Amino acid sequence: MRKQSKKVTPAPGPAIRQIRRAIVAMDLVCAGTVLKRWKLCGRPNCRCAEDPAARHGPYYEWSHRQDGRLRHNLLSPQQAEQMVRAIKNQRQILVLLVHWSRETARTIMAQNQAK
Ligand SMILES: [Zn+2]
Repeated sequence: MRKQSKKVTPAPGPAIRQIRRAIVAMDLVCAGTVLKRWKLCGRPNCRCAEDPAARHGPYYEWSHRQDGRLRHNLLSPQQAEQMVRAIKNQRQILVLLVHWSRETARTIMAQNQAK
């Protein structure tokens, strides 16, 4: 019977090191979408009732799923800017994970000496 093989982690190649650096460099990471919207206040004598250009806003709304339910939160302009960056980062990480996974498979398969 063959000896159990030792746990050996192959050294990550340059592609994986680059992916890891890119992920580590990210600060804010979040899911969801941010919408910029203008609103009607509902007062009949307000200008917004007749003039679309007089609607109130912009308001920034963050939509995201939490426990399977869609949630909406209002954000300040500063929060919206941060959230947009966080969402971009999350999307980038998901892309990087696919590459990381592919590179990992390539790295592991490249050391396969079995016939
Ligand atoms: Zn109004």
